Amino acid sequence: MSREHVLVFDTTLRDGEQSPGCSMNLSEKVNLAKQLDRLGVDIIEAGFPTASEGDFESVKAVAGEVRRPVIAALARAKTDDIKCAWDAVRNADKPRIHTFLATSDIHLEYKLKMTREEALVRAKESVRLARSLCDDVEFSAEDATRTDLDFLCAVIEAVIREGAATINIPDTVGYTTPGEFRSIIEAVRNRVNGIERATVSVHCHDDLGLAVANTLAALEGGARQVECTINGIGERAGNASLEEVVMALRTRADVMPFETGVAAEELYASSRLLIESTGVAVQPNKAIVGRNAFAHEAGIHQDGMIKNKLTYEIMTPQSVGVPESRLVLGKHSGRHALALRCEALGYRFERRALDRLYRRFVALADEIKAVDDHRIEQLVRDEMLEISAA
Ligand code: MN
Repeated sequence: MSREHVLVFDTTLRDGEQSPGCSMNLSEKVNLAKQLDRLGVDIIEAGFPTASEGDFESVKAVAGEVRRPVIAALARAKTDDIKCAWDAVRNADKPRIHTFLATSDIHLEYKLKMTREEALVRAKESVRLARSLCDDVEFSAEDATRTDLDFLCAVIEAVIREGAATINIPDTVGYTTPGEFRSIIEAVRNRVNGIERATVSVHCHDDLGLAVANTLAALEGGARQVECTINGIGERAGNASLEEVVMALRTRADVMPFETGVAAEELYASSRLLIESTGVAVQPNKAIVGRNAFAHEAGIHQDGMIKNKLTYEIMTPQSVGVPESRLVLGKHSGRHALALRCEALGYRFERRALDRLYRRFVALADEIKAVDDHRIEQLVRDEMLEISAA
């Protein structure tokens, strides 16, 4: 089966960071962006530069330090926003301006107080301005899934003519269903003149628990960019979870002819780094990265697993980088073993911090002999508290 490439657009640093309790400071954002680079995402949406001075500075820092992926900055369809976004990303090797305007009647009437005609003009002018600054422009029709389909197609056609190379169709309020969303994507691909010059993107929210299912349905309808976040964080119920989309495509490659550039073995480390940066955990039964995602509790299941893992395991924990927890470190374990263990758990330390961590580890190993992953995570937390207090 020949596979079509799907671009992975990570918005953990933008939509994800908008979720309550998930704000990060500049160095946490740069560290996470570096991990997203290792993970192999194609595009990193680094933030919304006009939102605050801090957002601007962190987008600028990510653009300056992370070279391989496209670095996108979000902007409302406003002159100042677009210029500000450009100032923040212009030093990236591959900068992108991502501008958006709501297109649903509900948003136009109550939020923007604009007619459809005015919105169409604004969308065109914004993309034109963005293109005058940056070669790579993405346009999002906010609340697309509650937008009149004819009007949605007219806006998309107009912004493609102005040079938008990526057209994002967001399910902003998590309202659509897989069948409906696939039809919307198909209709856009069939009706819009020039659509073949653009990549169709989707951005799904999880208000009804359908974000990942809707994202996969959109791929079947012809979308080729998926917007998602680590651990599925984001506004309200969150966004489509990157690790779930990627592993669904991998595990069911027999029914979905797509591939991504994501290195799945980095998924767990990415999830852990985000949890440590924000202090927001995932629920134990969270798919792919939750504590119980690969735990087998029922006796019958355990018996099956011992006889043959295929009985209850559709993917291995190793394939997503979950460390083998049978491994226990003792006081004879060296600094290197500790560093490797930490890395497997998703933590990287510079030399001096590692030295301090190692001293704590030896003291603990003296006391309790076998130091399992849970204990190592406690040590890491103590060390991090000390770093942030210093
Ligand atoms: Mn969103």
